[in-house]
Amino acid sequence: CGIVGYVGGQSALDVVLAGLKRLEYRGYDSAGVAVLADGGLAAAKKAGKLANLEKELADRPLPAGSTGIGHTRWATHGGPTDENAHPHLDNAGRVSVVHNGIIENFAGLRAELTDRGHELASETDTEVVAHLLAEAYSSCGELAESMRQVCRRLEGAFTLVAVHADEPDVVVGARRNSPLVVGVGDGEAFLASDVAAFIAHTREAIELGQDQVVELRRDGVTVTDFDGVPAEVREYHVDWDASA
Ligand code: GLU
Repeated sequence: CGIVGYVGGQSALDVVLAGLKRLEYRGYDSAGVAVLADGGLAAAKKAGKLANLEKELADRPLPAGSTGIGHTRWATHGGPTDENAHPHLDNAGRVSVVHNGIIENFAGLRAELTDRGHELASETDTEVVAHLLAEAYSSCGELAESMRQVCRRLEGAFTLVAVHADEPDVVVGARRNSPLVVGVGDGEAFLASDVAAFIAHTREAIELGQDQVVELRRDGVTVTDFDGVPAEVREYHVDWDASA
């Protein structure tokens, strides 16, 4: 339902949680975050309001990191439980993904992954993406390219945002039939399902086009289509008043 991604010099957790709060008006049934820190990936997720997640984070703090992603979920596949909340991870716990929308062909992909020895921990359509990204990454070694390969296999509507522990300064996003906006700051960059999530930090935005993948780094963004062909990027200034 709501998605936020961040890479920069601030605490990713603080930026992501504040962004998720700005998206709360959309309604949701669970929430979660993942942060890259100390060469690894740490995640927390909880059914219920963001306050439940914040309590979990107070009880079991995540290590501090400056790259992270977050999600508020509106369940479509699998009930609103802690396990089904996003982010979803691969079995090695190296890749993490959040998703808005529905992966229509998830059942076939799930069966395929199970046959190859993957253990799926949730009932969601989303989790297959984490496992497929891990497989793609082990052969191509690059998160943006992994995302392109996986997106070519997906049917349905999706905004996807992912991080990989081996690329601690990168956030990758993709979209089809579901919105994703990039925020370009000074030495930092944002991804969100709605500009409201990052308007407090920057008003320079890029609307991701249909079937595009974006790689976010502190010093800039790269956009391609699902085949890797570079896309033209048009930055615009968000001038509506978002202080309300
Ligand atoms: N289909 C996914 C799920 O049920 C994502 C739902 C959403 O857009 O929040 O977990």
